[in-house]
Amino acid sequence: MAYLISDEAKDLLQDVKKFCENEVKEQCKEYDVTGEWPKEIYDKAIEQGYHALEVPEEFGGPGLSRVDVAALIEEMAIADAGFATTISASGLGMKPVLIAGSEEQKKRACDLILEGGFGAFCLTEPGAGSDAGAGKTVAVKDGDEYVLNGRKCFITNGAVASFYCVTAMTDKTKGVKGMSMFFIEAGTPGLSTGNEENKMGIRTSNTCDVVLEDCRIPAKNLIGAEGKGFSIAMKTLDQARTWMGCVATGIAQRGINEAIAYGKERVQFGKPIIKNQAMQFKIADMQIKVETARQMVAHALTKMDMGLPHSMESAIAKCYASDIAMQVASEAIQFFGGYGYSREYPVEKLLRDAKIFQIFEGTNEVQRIVIANNTIGR
Ligand SMILES: Cc1cc2nc3c(=O)[nH]c(=O)nc-3n(C[C@H](O)[C@H](O)[C@H](O)COP(=O)(O)OP(=O)(O)OC[C@H]3O[C@@H](n4cnc5c(N)ncnc54)[C@H](O)[C@@H]3O)c2cc1C
Repeated sequence: MAYLISDEAKDLLQDVKKFCENEVKEQCKEYDVTGEWPKEIYDKAIEQGYHALEVPEEFGGPGLSRVDVAALIEEMAIADAGFATTISASGLGMKPVLIAGSEEQKKRACDLILEGGFGAFCLTEPGAGSDAGAGKTVAVKDGDEYVLNGRKCFITNGAVASFYCVTAMTDKTKGVKGMSMFFIEAGTPGLSTGNEENKMGIRTSNTCDVVLEDCRIPAKNLIGAEGKGFSIAMKTLDQARTWMGCVATGIAQRGINEAIAYGKERVQFGKPIIKNQAMQFKIADMQIKVETARQMVAHALTKMDMGLPHSMESAIAKCYASDIAMQVASEAIQFFGGYGYSREYPVEKLLRDAKIFQIFEGTNEVQRIVIANNTIGR
């Protein structure tokens, strides 16, 4: 089973599959060990335009539906979840501009991506994680400029982005209604990056602090209006979470693929282990979970494509897909027995990669708050 996608996307899917098989899957194993950001792999993906799938057609993008793009992103995640995260988080970085930016800002962000860049979304701070409204970064208007000071942490693509969408308080007395969103290009004096995180998983994606020290930007780089930053950030996450569900689904699909391949080869008691019905039922349970997650991702994205409310569906897609990615990755390790626990084999990485999807873009506890509010409020 898979996503129901357009004919153009089907052709592109075959190309992406081949690219991931030849240029990503095996190569990323080495980078998973070193933790180095694999620039040469990303350069090849950029050459093919695979980093720019979410750029809207009117700004030079490929004109695919979100469900079409999901099929491609899942394929990337099957090869390496860190690779898919980099590309998806670039889309996250672009969303505040697409949701609330001026035509000029939209064009600039899309051009930067089409030229081979990545976006980054900077909301989290050391004292403001789940409580994202508690940020201390400030932006002070000075003539026709804003001056930003503060520190963002755990920023995906932080050290490799061409532009950043950053939240900062323009009026601290108003709480979240005093938060605004800004577009800052890489290379702007006063914006620097801190130490890179040495992560448990998705090690082919870059995560680091983004530091703002008297960072001056033109006032026209305000996205939307002053005081709208929190609302833009929440709308951004309402969309972006589904993509994290899509990547988590890809990790789980890889778990099934690996379990089946190993189960056919590994012989115990004179027959391949997959001939045992107990093992076949494991595959069936994994498949039930993965296909359900995929359809939830597709449902949330279809609602987005149709311009319908999708906050709860997006939260369910992210929460469910990441929870089952953990379960399926664990079951894939079980399939491999002792070999599954060894770094020589591909499945322990899946568990390490899967964990972050229960944490970022709102922890699964936060997703359950969103889902409960939507459900009880009806
Ligand atoms: C690899 C990685 C990449 C990331 N990328 C980005 C990025 O690109 N941009 C960005 O802005 N941020 C990013 N983040 C930050 C991420 O979104 C936050 O880590 C996440 O939102 C949780 O915040 P926290 O780590 O401060 O945990 P905390 O908010 O301190 O939460 C700790 C625990 O308490 C629970 N908790 C907190 N409040 C409640 C509550 N009210 N009810 C129930 N449980 C609660 C949480 O669910 C969690 O289990 C990234 C993080 C990581 C690790």
